[in-house]
Amino acid sequence: MPRYVSDDEPLEDKTAALTLKNKRTERLKRKNITRQQKRDAIVNLTKLPTELILESLKHLRPRDVLGFSCVNRRFHSLVTANAKVIGDALIKRRYSILAQCFPTPKLLSAVEAPIQALLIDPGRQSQRSIHNRSYQHIQSPDARQLCTCLTCILTWNNLGLILDFAHWQPHLDTGIPIPLVPRGQTAPWNLELVARNARMTRKAVENPLYHAAILALHLDSTVRAIRRHSKNRGNKRVHVDMTESDAKAETDGFLEKNGPPSLEFPYQRDEYYMLEAYLPNRWWRKVEGRWIYTIAGQHERDLELVQRFTKR
Ligand SMILES: [Zn+2]
Repeated sequence: MPRYVSDDEPLEDKTAALTLKNKRTERLKRKNITRQQKRDAIVNLTKLPTELILESLKHLRPRDVLGFSCVNRRFHSLVTANAKVIGDALIKRRYSILAQCFPTPKLLSAVEAPIQALLIDPGRQSQRSIHNRSYQHIQSPDARQLCTCLTCILTWNNLGLILDFAHWQPHLDTGIPIPLVPRGQTAPWNLELVARNARMTRKAVENPLYHAAILALHLDSTVRAIRRHSKNRGNKRVHVDMTESDAKAETDGFLEKNGPPSLEFPYQRDEYYMLEAYLPNRWWRKVEGRWIYTIAGQHERDLELVQRFTKR
């Protein structure tokens, strides 16, 4: 019989994929379903609500929080928007003693306008540069951005010192001498280092998360320095009392105990070799058996002095 297609009937494509149904495909299907169920059951950070993430971040170390903020855009904006809440919580939980020894300097914009004018007065600034020597290991604060009362300069220098001291910890641990920059000279590596530290300090002035990060570095340096000095049998002075569990706690709680006071600011890197626990702005009140922290209110008193000095 000849086969032909009638003109009235349009061609209809009835081909379809064959439904594969055998033991193997069934098994594969079941496997895929359980695999997906397992995936869904994993508590993924990205699936958590913001409030829960925020609560978890308060338990981490500052550098872990900063690392977390680099994961994706959502985490970055979450950390940026809540930097103050997170930073304050970290400081309260881990570095409440260090925060009293190392507060941040005040912004110039936070000072009343008439006093601002007195602070940035060229006469006062040139006087200041005569009386306060600049350091090789710390960049001076920018008087156009920060309060340059005596207290704020000291607090700025202390934060810069933390960052510089932290930078040289590997040298101090391994006994490699810290490179010297001859007096009156500059070295590109040193300018770069102190400029980087100044940028970090400047961030900390407005962002408690960076302040917490600096304090964390100092806790680490302090623990390392105490370990180094307690091994040094030739060094007979009083050491800071630190147990292994104190060191592992990664909080500054053990610095509450009585220990040697920090009377002098380390003016140069040479002093790092003997520096154990630099904890300025406090003294031990024997009768009460506790440290008294002295810096609160000092900035306000200094501003009064600046005003009184000008009136004279
Ligand atoms: Zn000040």
